[in-house]
Amino acid sequence: MRTDVKKPLPTAHGSGAEEKQGTAAHGSGAERRTGADENVVVADERSSGGRHSELLERHRAVMPTWLSLFYEQPIEIVSGSGRHVTDGEGRTYLDFFAGILTNMLGYDVPEVRDAIKEQADRGVLHTSTLYLLRQQVDLAEKIAALSGIEGAKVFFTNSGTEANETALMLTTAYRRSNQVIALRNSYHGRAFATVGVTGNRGWGVSSLSPVQVTYAQSGYRYRSSFAGLDDGAYVDACVHDLRELIDTTTAGDVACLIAEPVQGVGGFAVPPDGLLGAYAEVLAEYGILFVSDEVQTGWGRTGESFWGIGSSGVVPDAMTFAKGLGNGAAIGGVVARPELMDCLQGQSVSTFGGNPLSTAAANATLDYVLHHDLQTRAATIGRVLLEGLRAQIGDLPIVGEVRGKGLMIGVELVHAGSTDPDPAAAARALETCRERGLLVGKGGLYGNCLRIAPPLTLTEGEAAEGLAVLVDTLASVDAG
Ligand code: PMP
Repeated sequence: MRTDVKKPLPTAHGSGAEEKQGTAAHGSGAERRTGADENVVVADERSSGGRHSELLERHRAVMPTWLSLFYEQPIEIVSGSGRHVTDGEGRTYLDFFAGILTNMLGYDVPEVRDAIKEQADRGVLHTSTLYLLRQQVDLAEKIAALSGIEGAKVFFTNSGTEANETALMLTTAYRRSNQVIALRNSYHGRAFATVGVTGNRGWGVSSLSPVQVTYAQSGYRYRSSFAGLDDGAYVDACVHDLRELIDTTTAGDVACLIAEPVQGVGGFAVPPDGLLGAYAEVLAEYGILFVSDEVQTGWGRTGESFWGIGSSGVVPDAMTFAKGLGNGAAIGGVVARPELMDCLQGQSVSTFGGNPLSTAAANATLDYVLHHDLQTRAATIGRVLLEGLRAQIGDLPIVGEVRGKGLMIGVELVHAGSTDPDPAAAARALETCRERGLLVGKGGLYGNCLRIAPPLTLTEGEAAEGLAVLVDTLASVDAG
């Protein structure tokens, strides 16, 4: 969904505040940012390299081992502007991962900063949902209208995990069933029920679960048992498998199927067109509810549609969201059919969910996305990146697949000449990109996929700049 109010975006290399960050090249050219905070370092401290090492040591002593960090020498990001961030040792990077897709508009966005400041200036950061919250109601109205769900209602949380926990609570309560279908290679969060529906061993930290889950085939065709089939045959095989799975592994009265339209943590795996639409038809026959996890795919990032599921022509019973909505402020939520949202018999509350500060940031962010038509931008710039990558590195022996939609692009790295995953190559590529001034993400079932998901405001010039770094990097990793 788009509005007709469009404002110009910065051109090629950004404008105003963004220009002070220069290009992606870092190191020697990095200057002390004026007006920044105490974290800014001067050249001497920077060259000593001590700030990150010292913080890493403290981090390791007090934080859990399972909280993993990127890079051999992890970095602290201390400031940002536009699509660039600067680390604690003064290096500036072009950011193609956006804080795991959260900084959807980029950094230091005046509209978001002003909205947060205006709320803070009132002296009230929080009141709780015991009182009316104007920003929350405004935001819920917008999201309900954008959802396409008739009479939709919205509940706000602080994270994607909580959003999915809520969706699972609602659908299982509504259907009076604890059975859930999830997709293989999925990721839905870190809490009890959400880990239960996460189909990725690397993140499946417990087999205990409040829901009884069965896993259907996903859109991750590259390693599927049905790999090699064309789109139509793949969809038919998966649908046949879904029916068989419902008939043989469930008691029939399944509460819901939960699916990411493009699997994020799973390496930006894109299903063939028609898969989720065909699944929705089967679910409707059985009365099973459809939950679309839009935590990564929402707000136009996939380019084709405002919600990732939109490409399938499906209006789900519920959608969950988080990540980019607050442009960095913690917010998530569920938008659902009214009877589903209202089905809980007792009371339920999230103390911080939908708080004034987060909803102020989210309203400003969502308005920005719509007013600047960032969905179209994601489609256009995403195409440049995807086609550029396919053309320039698609044939390298270490590249198994380049896939994606809009500004969600995955590059699956393999041992040359095989489909065997090569996580070490992905780690090297991540490291080399950083050395060359570009931050990208990593993921996939075996940690062997690069994930490219820049802010939706990425300019053409920045896309070309990042693409060049990626192409050079992958060529050098391929050369060994
Ligand atoms: N769903 C999806 C699709 C996600 O990618 C994530 C986070 N990576 C979550 C849910 C969980 O969100 P959070 O980390 O905010 O709890």
